Amino acid sequence: MIDQPHPSQGSTATVVETELDRLRPPDEARATVLAHAQPLGIESVPIAEAAGRVLAEDLVADEDVPPFPAATMDGFAVVAADGSPWREVIGAQMAGYVADVEVTPGTAVRITTGAPLPRGADAVVRVEATEPAEDHVIVHQEIVSPGDNIRQVGADLRRGGLVLPAGTMLGPAEIGLVAGLGRNPVPVRARARVSVLSTGDELVEPGEPVSPGQIRDSNRFSLVAALRGEGAEVVWSGKAPDEKEALRALLTERIAASDVVVTSGGVSMGELDLIKALLGELATVHFRRVFMKPGKPLNFATAGEDGRVLFFGLPGNPVSALVSFELFIRPALATMAGRRDFDRPRVPVLLAQDTPPTDRIEFQRATVRVTPDGQLVAATTGGQASSRLASFLGANALLVIPPRADAYQAGERVDALLLAPPLGPVETGQAPRS
Ligand code: AMP
Ligand code: MG
Repeated sequence: MIDQPHPSQGSTATVVETELDRLRPPDEARATVLAHAQPLGIESVPIAEAAGRVLAEDLVADEDVPPFPAATMDGFAVVAADGSPWREVIGAQMAGYVADVEVTPGTAVRITTGAPLPRGADAVVRVEATEPAEDHVIVHQEIVSPGDNIRQVGADLRRGGLVLPAGTMLGPAEIGLVAGLGRNPVPVRARARVSVLSTGDELVEPGEPVSPGQIRDSNRFSLVAALRGEGAEVVWSGKAPDEKEALRALLTERIAASDVVVTSGGVSMGELDLIKALLGELATVHFRRVFMKPGKPLNFATAGEDGRVLFFGLPGNPVSALVSFELFIRPALATMAGRRDFDRPRVPVLLAQDTPPTDRIEFQRATVRVTPDGQLVAATTGGQASSRLASFLGANALLVIPPRADAYQAGERVDALLLAPPLGPVETGQAPRS
């Protein structure tokens, strides 16, 4: 859930409003996007390269872990019921092999952590509770119970048990479990192949001089970074002027070579807003406007065989582009990768400051902190203009501000989508970062 219905939505048309141009709630737009996001193929990768990928099949343990009862301490393997403090040391069992030795009452075997428990033994006494000598050991522990300091067969993973469901993102612990069960290579979802295109006559490369009226292309770079951060493979990125024929050829080519095409600019009401016009020709458009701020003129279309290619025509304003990425493209990529549990947590927070009224659902960038008494308080990151990319700096949340005629007061409760964990309480004497 990223929004709430509001009576004014869809009622702002000044010209004849087509269904495509209906201002739709962000939740509806997101559902439309996800309904068109089809799962990517499955490929095998070496385990050393599987980190950050999404597991494509359930990982079921085909063996018990550990496969043998193993010592969890360095010490002596003994018979627990044997009450005598003095035991003859009849051998040693280190990790990595099985010694030919059997423990009986009156005897003990030296053992190290991880080593298999020798025949006859049913407990390990830690070395700290003993007094070892050359050929014998004195056990100072009065009561030794069967199972002491032993990891039983299957204590960590049971044979036949589900270890990781398909759709799990492979982080360090998951990779370790996959390796521990001997799976190499690993079946993972293919990465989405994405093309990123910035459009606009005003754009120049970051390293080039800007003439009057020009700006540097920043969206291409922020979007490529965002896409890579979500595990996508950016197969192409570039910029193009507002020139219809060239754009048509380029888009046709990118649609044929991609799973997802992301463009920025050219979707508003200007006469050079060509992406919107071209999408009608090259793709099936599903919506063109979302009841949100920033990011209203978001165009979403599908193209290619079976409509498998998702096309996101993002507005050119840098904040609009990244907010749209977060709300629509990120969940689409996660769905294509078959990921589980990718939704951002949505939690109630208290506003740290008065907030102006809004006529659309507004996604404000904010820093959420836990107060010493456990409340979540959200301070916005300063000016929220859709051109002010710096409003993302220090933000760990998007506030979901419902449309309302009156301003919001500091202390009012709104929802926040957490992009990262809340910050800890401010230490005494330290001013909150604004
Ligand atoms: P547009 O959606 O094409 O009307 O652009 C809206 C605003 O975003 C204009 O001020 C553009 O100059 C700016 N803009 C468009 N594309 C980019 C880009 N790639 N990087 C930075 N700003 C952009
Ligand atoms: Mg433009």
